[in-house]
Amino acid sequence: MLKATNIHKSFGDLEVLKGIDLEVEPSEVVVLVGVSGSGKSTLLRCFNFLEYMNEGSIELDGHVIDPNADKLSQIRADVGMVFQHFNLFPHKTVLENIIEAPIIVKKMKKEAAIAQAKELLEKVGLEDKADVYPNKLSGGQKQRVAIARALAMEPKVLLFDEPTSALDPELVGEVLNVMQQLAQEGMTMVVVTHEMKFAREVADRVIMLDEGKIIESTDSHTFFHHPTHERTKQFLQMVD
Ligand code: ADP
Ligand code: MG
Repeated sequence: MLKATNIHKSFGDLEVLKGIDLEVEPSEVVVLVGVSGSGKSTLLRCFNFLEYMNEGSIELDGHVIDPNADKLSQIRADVGMVFQHFNLFPHKTVLENIIEAPIIVKKMKKEAAIAQAKELLEKVGLEDKADVYPNKLSGGQKQRVAIARALAMEPKVLLFDEPTSALDPELVGEVLNVMQQLAQEGMTMVVVTHEMKFAREVADRVIMLDEGKIIESTDSHTFFHHPTHERTKQFLQMVD
């Protein structure tokens, strides 16, 4: 579904991604881990062209993305992203947050967008919050709205960048549950997270990024029980 080939990305003299190759199968859930600064966010941002890589290519569903020819709004519709800090529009209601992009980018009729948004709110357990403003929601609720908003674009792949890191511990579970449900429904997902329980239980594959390179890429059982790389072993001692 998503194929990244030889991705290099530098910020000035700092080389952050040093040749990343990664293929994500349809319906696969890949969890991406690594210490802070290893390049996880940058890699996700290259996948949907929030960052422009210096070298390499991204193929989505058999099509090599060309940011000069393909519309950025369409690329970001197909490769959805859920951020650590939700990024909801504060002056729009929950419903308005969800219907905005489908109407503007996908030219969806307003009635259809509203019907879809209500279904998505039900999916994330917030059907009673449609007319509420984001500042009336808990962090966990905001993040579930952000997930519904991403789903409204019917992405081919959904990227999550530490979606629970900004949440109070008691709110983490409700967001992970929604993500687990999406995984079970067959959504293709790349998830950066420090929630190792989620990685163990939901990931088809765990990838360890270290100093801009993939040093481990394996099924989650092997990752947690038989890691090959010394840096992975150190990482696992740190997070467990
Ligand atoms: P991670 O998400 O794994 O913590 P990041 O991808 O955010 O890592 O960052 C990797 C490295 O790239 C860090 O050293 C960070 O300071 C640097 N970096 C990230 N974004 C920028 C930017 N826009 N400009 C300059 N340096 C950046
Ligand atoms: Mg990051």
